[in-house]
Amino acid sequence: MEKKNIDWANLGFAYMKTDYRYVSNYKNGAWDEGTLTEDNKVVLEESAGVLQYAQTIFEGLKAYTTEDGHIVVFRPDLNGDRLETSAKRLEIPVFPKERFLDAVVKTVEANIAYVPPFGSGATLYLRPYMFGSDNVIGVKPATEYQFRLFATPVGPYFKGGAKPITIKVSDFDRAAPNGTGNIKAGLNYAMSLHAIVTAHNEGFDENMYLDAKTHTKVEETGGANFIFVTKEGKVVTPKSDTILPSITRRSLIYVAKEYLGLEAEEREICFDEVKDFAECGLCGTAAVISPVGKIVDHGKEICMPSGMKEMGPVVKKLYETLTGIQMGRITAPEGWIKVIK
Ligand SMILES: *Cc1c(COP(=O)(O)O)cnc(C)c1O
Repeated sequence: MEKKNIDWANLGFAYMKTDYRYVSNYKNGAWDEGTLTEDNKVVLEESAGVLQYAQTIFEGLKAYTTEDGHIVVFRPDLNGDRLETSAKRLEIPVFPKERFLDAVVKTVEANIAYVPPFGSGATLYLRPYMFGSDNVIGVKPATEYQFRLFATPVGPYFKGGAKPITIKVSDFDRAAPNGTGNIKAGLNYAMSLHAIVTAHNEGFDENMYLDAKTHTKVEETGGANFIFVTKEGKVVTPKSDTILPSITRRSLIYVAKEYLGLEAEEREICFDEVKDFAECGLCGTAAVISPVGKIVDHGKEICMPSGMKEMGPVVKKLYETLTGIQMGRITAPEGWIKVIK
């Protein structure tokens, strides 16, 4: 298929309408068969559950062109599993994983013209989501739901190199103990908006959230997990019930151990330890890893030894190995790459 005439290298991370999206509706206790549609409008009644009580969850993954010209998706089964976990927590009916994977394939196939070419650094971002669609006014789950999956091309995350960012330790909390921090729900983002706008106004790129109960342990940022490297070269990442289980982070831990022969551990990380680490990065689908150069705790600066110019050496190796696996330069572990075409 002829590619769309898009300036791939200069795309930002923004919504662009593509040709097709997948939609399935849940009613009378069952999902319908689902379909691709050209209609990007969602029509709801004024008291739809999602509009009143924020009953909505989402996922994010990418389709891209590999070095040898295939179009692939990275570990979509894990997105399907996580969407199921999120659905159960918000009393949303589960959209079966096989159907989720089928929707991913159909949506990418229908929008092949929007999958950026290899080497552009751009990708086709996929956004599956589900929401309560019928009217509720008393606080209770909706009885009707919609699953949608749209695709939008997004540009290379790092234009002109990955510059380390500066983050602040936030006074706001992201997730309550026994709350919803471990699911991918819109509500976790709604409450983070004031915190991120505040951080930006103060000149920071991101927030570091600490655990809500004691404010002593590192959790995550608004939309990415932390990965640290100790001075001995060990990779460590926070373990907590209130952070979102990032697929990128889980993949990086595997890469550290199995590809790079590094020690890697998921454990509680005290904020007091951060000053002793050698490197820090934020991991998520969009950037894979963004290097963190400086962490500011109420005016007290922690400068990572890796500095403000470039990624630290271990973060860089992790980044290059995982993107190498994604792009087909390095053999992937069994089941990590789903080939669409
Ligand atoms: C989506 C998300 C991440 C990153 O997860 P990936 O699966 O790696 O994309 C991290 N933290 C939060 C809060 C998220 O919503």
